[in-house]
Formats: sequence, C-alpha cells, structure tokens
Amino acid sequence: MIDFTRRDMIAAAGGIAALALPGATACARADSRTLGYAVVGLGGYGLGRIVPEFANCAHSRLTGLVSGDRAKAERVAAEHGVPTRNIYDYANFDSIADNPNIDIVYVCLPNSMHAEYTIRAAKAGKHVMCEKPMAISSAECEAMIAACKAADRKLMIGYRCHFEATNLEAMRRARAGEIGTPRYFRSEHGFVQGDPTKWRLKKALAGGGSLMDIGIYALNAARYMTGEEPIAVYAHEQTDRSDPRFHEVEDMIEFQLEFPSGVIGSCMSMYSANQSHILLMGDKGRIELEPATGYSGHRLWVGRGRETEITPPPGPGKTQWAGQLDHLVQCIVEDREPIVSGTEGLRDLRIIEAIYRSAKERARVGLA
Ligand code: NAD
Repeated sequence: MIDFTRRDMIAAAGGIAALALPGATACARADSRTLGYAVVGLGGYGLGRIVPEFANCAHSRLTGLVSGDRAKAERVAAEHGVPTRNIYDYANFDSIADNPNIDIVYVCLPNSMHAEYTIRAAKAGKHVMCEKPMAISSAECEAMIAACKAADRKLMIGYRCHFEATNLEAMRRARAGEIGTPRYFRSEHGFVQGDPTKWRLKKALAGGGSLMDIGIYALNAARYMTGEEPIAVYAHEQTDRSDPRFHEVEDMIEFQLEFPSGVIGSCMSMYSANQSHILLMGDKGRIELEPATGYSGHRLWVGRGRETEITPPPGPGKTQWAGQLDHLVQCIVEDREPIVSGTEGLRDLRIIEAIYRSAKERARVGLA
C-alpha cells in the first residue's frame, strides 16, 4: 500500500520551502540546509532537464559533474558555476569520496548503469538520486538498497510525477473519495522511437523496451492513483521483430493488474505511438489526466466526464524537478525516507519482471 500522509503530499508539492520557509517563493534561496549535487551523465535528461533545474531549487545546488566528455563537462561547469576541480569522469568517479562539496550523486545514465553508479556513490559516502527505471532487475535494486543502507545514505528514485501538481491533485481527490469507490484504472503511455542505434533499443543497456522506459509511468500511476499494490498481472506483447528498432526489445506490451480491493488496472506501453493518459473510474465518477505525466501541459478532469476541468491549487511555484531535488535534501536534513525511495523503485521492477514473464508464458502471474 502506498501511504501518502498529508505531510508527504505537502512536502512533495513544496519541498522544504513549503514546510520550513512559509511564504518562500520558488526562486533559489540558499541557507545552511542547502546540499550539493553531482550529476552523472550529461545527456538529454541530465543536461537537458536536471542541470537547469537547480536554478529553481531552494535547497539544492549543482556542485559537481561526472562525464566521459571533459570538454562538454568544462563548458557546462563554466555555464553553471561549478569549479573544474569538481569535474569527474567514469574512471576517477570514486575519488568523489574526498569532495565535501558533493553530498548527493544524481545518476542520469542508461538503465544498465544505474546499479553500478548508485553502489559506487554510496560506497563513496554520497546520498543517491537515481533515475527511473531504478535498474534492469529486482536483484540489482536489492543490491542498491543494501549498499545505501550499509553506507547509511538515502536513496531516492527520480519519479518526478510524485512532485507534479496535477498528479498530486489527482491523487488527493482519489484518496478523498471524490469518485466514490475506485473500480477500474486505465493508462496508456508511449512515444515513437526513431533511431534504432539508440541505447534505449539495446537490451543490454536498457534492460527492456517501452515498458522499462515509458510504460513504467502507467504502472507507477496505477499504484499511486489506486493507493494499492497489485496482486497479479496478465500481459500480452505485440512487437514487429522485423522492424530494425525492435530486434532486441519490445514495442507494445499491454498488461492487466489485479488489486486486492477488486480494482482492475489496464495499461498499455508503446514505442510506436505517442500517448500520456491516466483514467481512474469509481462508482461515483472519474478522474482523468491527459497529458498525464509529461514535462508540461498537464490537464485534469474530475466528474462524470470531461465537463469539469480542475486547476491544481497554486503551490509555492516549484517545478516537479525542483520539488524532487529539494525533497531529497529535506529527507537527508530531517533523516527520513524519501516518498519515492529505493523500495518504490524495487516494487516497480518486481512487477515489471512479472509482466515480462506473463507475456512470455502467456499466463497470469501472481505477485507475492
Ligand atoms: P541520453 O542517451 O540522452 O544520455 C545518456 C548519458 O549517458 C549520455 O551523457 C551518455 O554519454 C552517457 N553514457 C555513459 N555511458 C554510456 C553508454 N555506455 N551508452 C550510452 N550512453 C552512455 O539518455 P537520457 O534520456 O538522458 O536518459 C538517461 C536516464 O534518464 C535513463 O535512465 C532514462 O530512463 C532517464 N530519463 C528519465 C526521464 C524522466 O522524465 N524522469 C526522462 C528521460 C530520461
């Protein structure tokens, strides 16, 4: 059961600013509780999305960079005020242990590298933010959790939707019983993959296809919208293996989730169509989001159909990324578990493994 207390909801929406700095705005505001992040992997997400977001944080600073491309790292360091002595590569990464300006390592690498860099960061005494999917197997997730526990470091997974205002409002209304008793959940998530040479289409680097990358949003949403953990899955895969993009990984995979209350979840993950949609139906109404989990433009309707569009209440103005980054700092400062800890990532990976097994065996697979 995903347990969201009101405090967690407020913390997720506003991070430290909402809890400890009443009236604080979204603008950067350093104080003694500011911690330093090193971003590992300066690719589309690490450089394109995460690095610029430190400007929107109240308690997180960019203090380090880890990249295989020194020239790129130096350019990014100059642009963002990171001292060149805080630039590392993959070979000397472990010496980050000696750098007191780096408190947290943010792993933005291909999926198969998440476990290695999380474990190395923990051994270097750093807290870890790791991108989704947490790893490419549940065994790796367990090793990551154990390494962080042994080093007494926090581990959080980059499930940014738990910090996004529209998704938070949808969760709040579902928990408040606004649609009565939930009965059926539906979600389709996908985008069109183009270049067959990308790491996302290589099994060894990605761990799987659309499910690992984008279908995981449907799965995670099924859990946070219902507030329940599935007890069984049934999946069906549809992939054109003659398509050069899909020689190694799946395109479409459809999966049903059975929940203890009797709610049925029906999800579709795709690498051949664009979609981001969530729908929770109850006996008194429905909650719908579309686009549901993207970077911007989220829309939410609550009622019998799409008659009533909901605007989430104005928060402190933080973006989902700033909320996420500051939340981990808050958890470190207050010594508490992130709302999306390693355990959350592990749960998704266990279900993903069951989905793949179900699709392969064409059978219902129970979850312990
Ligand atoms: P990307 O391909 O744009 O960047 C990957 C980075 O890893 C590059 O800097 C690349 O140089 C580096 N790298 C190091 N070793 C590599 C190797 N062997 N092969 C390929 N690249 C290597 O990928 P991305 O889109 O930035 O994704 C990185 C991670 O972030 C993935 O785990 C992905 O699932 C996650 N992600 C999350 C979101 C989100 O919304 N939370 C969005 C996009 C990506």
